[in-house]
Amino acid sequence: MKCSICKGEIETHRDPDTNQIIWDQGNNADPINDGRCCDNCNATKVIPARFEMHRKKQVLLTHNDTELLEEYAAEKAEARACGDLDFPSFREWSGEVNPRQAAEGRWTYYADET
Ligand SMILES: [Zn+2]
Repeated sequence: MKCSICKGEIETHRDPDTNQIIWDQGNNADPINDGRCCDNCNATKVIPARFEMHRKKQVLLTHNDTELLEEYAAEKAEARACGDLDFPSFREWSGEVNPRQAAEGRWTYYADET
């Protein structure tokens, strides 16, 4: 099997005791592409790309991404319609702060630092 990123051969993993191949399907190359990749590309390209995606998502949250805000407003309206008046704040809902920090009012510092 070839790596979808570097086109090298994907290494097989063998059971150290029996020497039987226990895994030869490589790693999920998402978000680089939708194929499989070797261990080296996974460590040097795929995992950093996932971190980068996560970071970008965090930046969007910090900047109160419009789409997310709309989604939040819709869910909140739905919760209200069902009689749930304790819907979390946007920052809690989006995962930017945890509920405990929000309860303590610490999120304001957290937001100001970024
Ligand atoms: Zn590779």
